[in-house]
Amino acid sequence: MLLPKDKDPMGAAIADYHRTGRASTLRVFSSQFDEDEIPVDTLFRTLADMPSIEQRALAMARGKILDVGAGSGCHALALQKMGKEVTAIDISELSVEVMQERGVEDARAIDLYDEHFMERYDTILLLMNGSGIIGNIEGMERFFRRMKLLLKPSGSIYMDSSDLKYLFEEEDGSFLIDIADEYYGLVDFQMQYKQVKGDAFDWLYIDFDTLAYYAEQYGFTAELVCQGEHYDYLARLSMA
Ligand code: SAH
Repeated sequence: MLLPKDKDPMGAAIADYHRTGRASTLRVFSSQFDEDEIPVDTLFRTLADMPSIEQRALAMARGKILDVGAGSGCHALALQKMGKEVTAIDISELSVEVMQERGVEDARAIDLYDEHFMERYDTILLLMNGSGIIGNIEGMERFFRRMKLLLKPSGSIYMDSSDLKYLFEEEDGSFLIDIADEYYGLVDFQMQYKQVKGDAFDWLYIDFDTLAYYAEQYGFTAELVCQGEHYDYLARLSMA
């Protein structure tokens, strides 16, 4: 489902920043953390400003590329500059309008999970804790089912995530995680920009081993491409 404009705080922030060159605070709430904010200018990062794991993903992307949850289009624009062919999709119509105005040649308002969307790609990108779009552990099956339909048999998915275990680190360096609880990387978020408040949603952060386990369950193999500076990493998923 696409986001209604009055429930799309990130899209409103992206549109404001695009139009005026600045934006006010994009506030982030979660039942698990203190209130935080997303600096809106980071959503407009250029290739040089991107974390190395994102740069790696863009360098490896080839053929027909799908950028899922493309936001302001920062990755799509960088790919176009490299001469690559990219389709950018997002559930935020406000963001898609901005992408089109910024020169993303093929930007469309589409939900990854909309089954009418049926094209095949050589590369699928999910960046900026892109695993979040899986939602929660129960969402794995639905996610991999979509990937199977959208990816060419020889294609690759590049997805980044973070292992949130560092939030549970004890003073002695051990990790105290209650395995009877739900998976520790499951976070609920809600965002607000000015008066625009979005609905709460689940966003899954996942450690590499757990990702690899589920990938295998659903017919994919996962490789660890590289690690970032703080428990973050880039994974490549391909059909087994
Ligand atoms: N990739 C961008 C934006 C990351 S924020 C960047 O790195 O800057 C996550 C984006 O995913 C948001 O723009 C949100 O609207 C979009 N999104 C969330 N769920 C989606 C879905 N089911 N299908 C397509 N896009 C989605």
